Amino acid sequence: MADYRPPLRDIEFVLDHLTDLDALCELPAFSSLDADTIKGVLAENARFVAEVIAPLNRVGDVEGSVHDPATGSVRTPEGFIEAYHRYVEAGWGGVPFPEAYDGGGFPWVVGLAMQELISSANMAFSVAALLTQGAIDMLMHHGSEEQHETFLKRMVTGEWTGTMNLTEPQAGSDVGAVRTKAVPADDGTWRITGTKIFISYGEHDLSENIVHLVLARVSDAPPGTKGISCFIVPKFLVEDDGSLGERNDVQCVSIEHKMGIKASPTCTMSYGEKGEGAVGYLIGEPNQGMRYMFTMMNNARLSVGLEGLALGERAYQDALQYAQERQQGRAPGTPAGETSFIVELPDVRRMLMTMKALIDAVRAIVYTNAEAIDLATHHPDEDVRQRNEELVELLTPVSKGFGTDMGIEVTSLAIQVYGGMGYIEESGVPQHFRDARITAIYEGTNGIQAMDLVGRKLPLRAGGVMADFLAATAALDAELAAAGDDLAVVREQLTAALGTVTETVAWLTEHGLADVRNALAGATPFLRMFGLLVGGRYLAEAALAARADLAAGTGDPEYLDARLVVARFYAANLLPGVHGLRSAVTAGFDDLYAVGPGALAG
Ligand SMILES: Cc1cc2nc3c(=O)[nH]c(=O)nc-3n(C[C@H](O)[C@H](O)[C@H](O)COP(=O)(O)OP(=O)(O)OC[C@H]3O[C@@H](n4cnc5c(N)ncnc54)[C@H](O)[C@@H]3O)c2cc1C
Repeated sequence: MADYRPPLRDIEFVLDHLTDLDALCELPAFSSLDADTIKGVLAENARFVAEVIAPLNRVGDVEGSVHDPATGSVRTPEGFIEAYHRYVEAGWGGVPFPEAYDGGGFPWVVGLAMQELISSANMAFSVAALLTQGAIDMLMHHGSEEQHETFLKRMVTGEWTGTMNLTEPQAGSDVGAVRTKAVPADDGTWRITGTKIFISYGEHDLSENIVHLVLARVSDAPPGTKGISCFIVPKFLVEDDGSLGERNDVQCVSIEHKMGIKASPTCTMSYGEKGEGAVGYLIGEPNQGMRYMFTMMNNARLSVGLEGLALGERAYQDALQYAQERQQGRAPGTPAGETSFIVELPDVRRMLMTMKALIDAVRAIVYTNAEAIDLATHHPDEDVRQRNEELVELLTPVSKGFGTDMGIEVTSLAIQVYGGMGYIEESGVPQHFRDARITAIYEGTNGIQAMDLVGRKLPLRAGGVMADFLAATAALDAELAAAGDDLAVVREQLTAALGTVTETVAWLTEHGLADVRNALAGATPFLRMFGLLVGGRYLAEAALAARADLAAGTGDPEYLDARLVVARFYAANLLPGVHGLRSAVTAGFDDLYAVGPGALAG
C-alpha cells in the first residue's frame, strides 16, 4: 500500500480554475486572505494529515474502537488520542469558521479541501472532526449567545467534539418518526429521555466533553417533522465558569460491529436511563428542529459526497503504484520472453483512467458546490447570493449521491487492479472499499438524494434552476468548437448528453406530474445520469482552462495536457452512459408493482 500523498496539484488546479479563489478573497468576509496564503495553509495541513493522521488508518481498521460495557466508555485505537490532540493544538478544525467564534475565517471551499485531505488520510478518524463541524454550523446559526459562549467556542477549537443524534430504531430515513421525549424542567432546561442508534462518536476518549445535538419531541408536538425540536445535551454539564461539572445522564450502551470505518464508534445512546432525564438545552424554538437541521444539511451532505471522493483518491493512489510494481503478462508490442508491468496492459490502463476521470469529475463537482455555498452566504449582491443558493440546492444531491456512488465504484476498481491481492486484507485496499460503502447510506441514503433531486430540485423556480444549469452547459459549445480536434470528442459527447438529459428532464416533469410514482421510480438512474453530465461539464471547463494555460505558456505542460486527456477519456468512455440510463429513468413504475414480493421470491 502506498503512503498517502496529498494531491495538492489537483486540488489547487480546481481551486484556481473551476472555483475562483482570487474572487472569493475579494469578498468582505475573506478580505484579509489571498490565494497564496490559502495555498500555504493547505500545504501545511496536507503535511500534517500525511504525517500524523494517515499512518493511523490501518491500525484504526485492525483495532477498531472498543466499548467497555461496565463503564460505558469507548477506547479509540492506539495513537488516535495523541493525533487528535495535535489536530486541536494546530487549530485545524476551526479554519472555515468566522473569526468572531475564534475560527480561522477561511472560505468553506478551503475547509472542504482540508476535509478531503483528512478523509483520504483516515476516514474513520475524520468522522469526529466532520461531525463536530456539522454541529458547529448548526449551533452557529441557531444557538443563543449563551450557548455560543458555553459550547460553540470549545467546539471550534476542537477541545470538545459534537454529534448529531437523529436516528432511532423506528426513525431512520423517516426522521419525523422520532420518539425521544423532552419535558421542561423548572429552571428553563429540559429533561431528555429515549434511545438513539447509530450515533457516530457518541462516546470516545478523544476529547474531554462531547456535545450531543439531539432531536426530540416536546409534549403536544405535532406529528412528523413539524413536531421535532433540537436540544444540546452535553456529556458533562458545564459550570458557570466554563469548567466541567457533573456527568449528564447519557450513556453509550453498545457500539456496532461494522463492515468499515471500524475506528469510528457507532453508538447506541441512552438518554435519561438513571433518573428523570438527561439535562438538555433547547436550541431556538420548540418544533423547529428540522428547519434548523436543514440549514446544516447541505454542508453535511456535501461533506459525505466528499468522503466518496477522498476514499476514491486514496484507493487510486494505491492502485496506480501497485500497477507500476506488479509484473504480469505481456503488453502488446513487448518482446517475447519479457513480462510487462500491469500498468502497460490496456485493460488496466482503462481501469486507472476510469478511476482518475471519476475522481477529477467528482472533485470538480463538490468544490464547485462548496464555492457556491461561500458565494450564497457571503456575496454582497443579493442576486448573486440567490443564484448560488439555487446552485447549491441543485448540486448537493449530486455531490452526495453521485460522489459516494463513484467512491464505491472507484474503490472497487482499485481492488480489481490489484487482482487477487486486492481481495487480501493485508494489501490495505479492501479497507477503502469497506470504508466507502457507508457513504451511500448515511446523511440521507442515495435513494433519498435521488428523490430530493427529482422531487424538490427539478421543480425549483418552475424548472428554471435546472434549465439555467443546462443552458450554462450548452454555452460551452463555442469555446469547445474553437478548441478544434483537441476537444472534439468532448464537444460531441457533451452536446449529445445534454440532449438526452434535456429530453429526460421533460419526460420526468410531464410524467411525474401525472403520477409521482413515475418520477420516483426513475429517480436513482436520473441522479446518475445527471451526475455524469455535471461531471462532463466541469471536466470540459477544466480542459478549456488547461488549454488556455498551455497557450499562455503558464504551468507544467505535461500536467495541463493530462487535463485534456482526462476530459477526452471521460467524454468518450463515461459520458455516453447517460444515453443508456434514459430507458431506466423513463420506464415508469408499472413493472415495479406488476407482481407482489411473493411472486419474486423464486
Ligand atoms: C456507520 C453509521 C454511522 C451513522 N451515523 C449516524 C449519526 O452520527 N447520527 C445519526 O443520527 N444517524 C447516523 N446513522 C444512521 C443513518 O443516517 C441511517 O442508517 C440512514 O439514515 C438510513 O436509515 P435506516 O438505516 O433506518 O434505513 P431505512 O430508512 O430503513 O432505509 C432502508 C432502505 O429503504 C429506503 N427508503 C427509506 N425510506 C424511503 C423513502 N421514503 N423512499 C424511498 N426509499 C426509502 C432507503 O433508501 C434504504 O434503501 C449512521 C448509520 C451508520 C450505519
